[in-house]
Amino acid sequence: MPEALPDRPPHVVPDRAPEQARPDYPLALDLNGRRVLVVGGGPVAARRARGLLDAGARVDVVAPELGPEMTILVSEGAVRWSPVAFRVADLVLPEPAWLVHTATGVPDVDAEVMRAADAQRVWCVRADLASASSAWTPAVSRGAVGSPAEGLTVAVTGGGDPRRAVAVRDAIAAGLESGSLPVRRLRPVSHPSSVAPVDPPRIGRVWLVGGGPGDADLITVRGRTVLAAADVVVADRLGPRSLLDDLGPDVEVIDVGKTPGHHPISQERINELIVEHALAGRDVVRLKGGDPFVLGRGGEEALHCLANGVPVEVVPGVTSAISVPAAAGIPVTQRGITASFVVASAHEGAGAALEALRDAPVSSTLVLLMGITTLRETAEQLMAAGRSPSTPVAFVESGWTDDQRTTVTTLEKAADVAEQEAVQAPAIIVIGEVVSMHAQLGDLRGSRGSRGRRGRQGLQGLQGRASPDLREVVLLAHGSPDPRHAVGVAAVVDHVRRLAPSRGIHTAYLDHHPPSATDVAGRLTGGVLVPLLLTRATHVRGDVPVAAAEMTALGHGAYAVAGALGPDELLFVACEELLAAGKFARDERTAVILYAGGSSDREAIAAIGAAAAARAGRGWGPWTVAALAGGDTLAEVVERLHADPAVDRVLVLSYMIADGVLRDRMVAQAQQVGVEFVPGTLSETDALAELVLVRAAGAR
Ligand code: SAH
Repeated sequence: MPEALPDRPPHVVPDRAPEQARPDYPLALDLNGRRVLVVGGGPVAARRARGLLDAGARVDVVAPELGPEMTILVSEGAVRWSPVAFRVADLVLPEPAWLVHTATGVPDVDAEVMRAADAQRVWCVRADLASASSAWTPAVSRGAVGSPAEGLTVAVTGGGDPRRAVAVRDAIAAGLESGSLPVRRLRPVSHPSSVAPVDPPRIGRVWLVGGGPGDADLITVRGRTVLAAADVVVADRLGPRSLLDDLGPDVEVIDVGKTPGHHPISQERINELIVEHALAGRDVVRLKGGDPFVLGRGGEEALHCLANGVPVEVVPGVTSAISVPAAAGIPVTQRGITASFVVASAHEGAGAALEALRDAPVSSTLVLLMGITTLRETAEQLMAAGRSPSTPVAFVESGWTDDQRTTVTTLEKAADVAEQEAVQAPAIIVIGEVVSMHAQLGDLRGSRGSRGRRGRQGLQGLQGRASPDLREVVLLAHGSPDPRHAVGVAAVVDHVRRLAPSRGIHTAYLDHHPPSATDVAGRLTGGVLVPLLLTRATHVRGDVPVAAAEMTALGHGAYAVAGALGPDELLFVACEELLAAGKFARDERTAVILYAGGSSDREAIAAIGAAAAARAGRGWGPWTVAALAGGDTLAEVVERLHADPAVDRVLVLSYMIADGVLRDRMVAQAQQVGVEFVPGTLSETDALAELVLVRAAGAR
């Protein structure tokens, strides 16, 4: 047996401090048909041998004895076994090995194999001591055959900590599976060994994916996986559009979004597009809202693919027909109420619904999709066909989005209410007794907060105070002939909805402007009345309780009355929001005047003044109050402040919720006395919206 071989001067491993992390150089080896030596016959050696065999290596095993696993490999003829202790010659005979794995369980032997391999310049993996190896095996994950991750290999080394490597490998493997990692093939597979002169053109696959009702995490895991693998995504307007933002820059997104009454791309064209891309070799995801086969024309798309020889798969989705009522706390079936439901399109009017209901029990819940524009006709026909005019009806708009809104009424009033409330598509119409569950369950979408909004100090606590209350909230404003006023009220509503997406928030007006308090109460089953008034002025003492009594007298439910919004610390926080938005620097020499519209109630104005004065020492100069009526005039207040040696600058801000004629007068006054007016109105602040919720929670 020759002990050393010619032409291979021994390699001398340089000394390395033991604590020094070993530099490593990842490399993927093609072991196909190459000889690899495994030293050792135990379970670790057997596992290594198996991995090497999977990679196509010819495996020789050197070990005096074999464990059961290696015995199987030997008896199957998968490996060749030399039943002896390791000798240097095993590295080179019958032919030189490309790679050695040693796993004898005896450190001295493993060390000797390592030394011999180094001398022969053969890479050696030492199972017992990676740090003493010249090569080592990473934790590996391979994309499953037939999955979008097919062909991907991920190898992780753990810096001397194999468990760590395995943990990371597993996390990556999960990402490959779920589609949260970009597994998509970016260039055609080519391999030197593929010798076919002309490959037949590859046909892409088509996945018809149900994206769910709109929230990005209501798509299925498989939907995510295939989306990550797509070359082309053909997307609708409905569905989880935010997922499109995560696609790679080279993924072609074709927006075929239809808006009601406006069909930019015909269904025929969509069918053609999908097939064209697949025939050009691209994998196509047709991303649809809800479920592809529920009023989604997915069946037509599937037929068109098959007719053109394009392989197609469906990935079901969470349909809006069931999930959007659920988000509004309306189960489509409820023990004791009904055990069946009917889903129908109202796109072409009441026809489909009437036909579906013909043999359904009277108690069946009717869920209408695409029904807003045809609502009047549909409701009339349903009543003509025998459905009671008092059947509860819910509109759930933009389910599972931050704009979700639920409006409850009756079949008889449905069309009028939808008009008054400007109910908009996409909306689900639920007709049936189950709608009454909404009053008990409230919205069940779960408060996922309004994404992307800046956090603010104290917000958590305040929401905590307000959130357990699921009563409907009616914001009661005194109307104004000035249209800017209603715009301000709408801004408040908008902010409140964003802070409390799961609550029903409504508006009613005491005068000038519809809907009246009783209009609103006609559609609800009780709730809380929050007057949109900044002072404890006459309205709160008189009109508001009267309105609440009238609302309750309708008999649909009771209304609790919340206190006036001000004075409250949060109103000052709202003022500070306006100051910050206007980029006015906090300065102890800057005085702030809150300019109130005023009231015959001098006490109310004085109360604001007292609360404002108590705010001294928050980095601003004095806070004071002026009023158009019922308090000190702006000129008086400004004169006093100018006389104050501690004040250099005076700012005035409107202590009114909305824009309008009174604010115009304030601006004019401020100009006359020469002080700066802070832009914006309190209606645009988060703090005011929070205050509304706090008041609602405290209502009795
Ligand atoms: N295939 C879809 C339905 C498509 S038809 C599904 O299974 O959900 C489109 C209609 O679905 C809309 O007009 C509306 O009635 C309803 N819809 C879809 N998403 C909705 C949502 N997030 N909120 C309310 N209605 C929705």
